[in-house]
Amino acid sequence: MLQKIKNAIIRFMDGRYGLDNLGQFTLIAGLAVSILSSILQSSLLSLIGFILYIVTLFRMFSKNREKRRQENIRYMDITGNIRPRIRRFTGNAKTRVSQFIKRLKNSKEYKYFRCPGCKALLRKKRSSETKEITCVRCGHKFTK
Ligand SMILES: [Zn+2]
Repeated sequence: MLQKIKNAIIRFMDGRYGLDNLGQFTLIAGLAVSILSSILQSSLLSLIGFILYIVTLFRMFSKNREKRRQENIRYMDITGNIRPRIRRFTGNAKTRVSQFIKRLKNSKEYKYFRCPGCKALLRKKRSSETKEITCVRCGHKFTK
């Protein structure tokens, strides 16, 4: 049964274009705009989100692969300068979020604070009696 469905999908997708970089962008943009539209209760945004989904699906299932490929190349050209910056930004955001979750998890055991010298994030066991802290990054000594 599953094999049959799988074969049917493979047959359906045969010769079709699929999801490229531009497709991933329109898909994620569509998702983001839809979420935003429900938060802001904006029918214009929900229409834009809908159009982005349609564009994504249309390009995915398109049989005109050459044209879709050209569109993707144009998209990659236009966004060539921006994409590494976005990746850096989302990478930073991910690190921040995971740091924040880690802090929440460990907050019973550790006390977190920033070094007054270099702003590095430091932690100290709550059970520890030491008041004197030495920053592991810059060597700044301070009391907490
Ligand atoms: Zn420091």
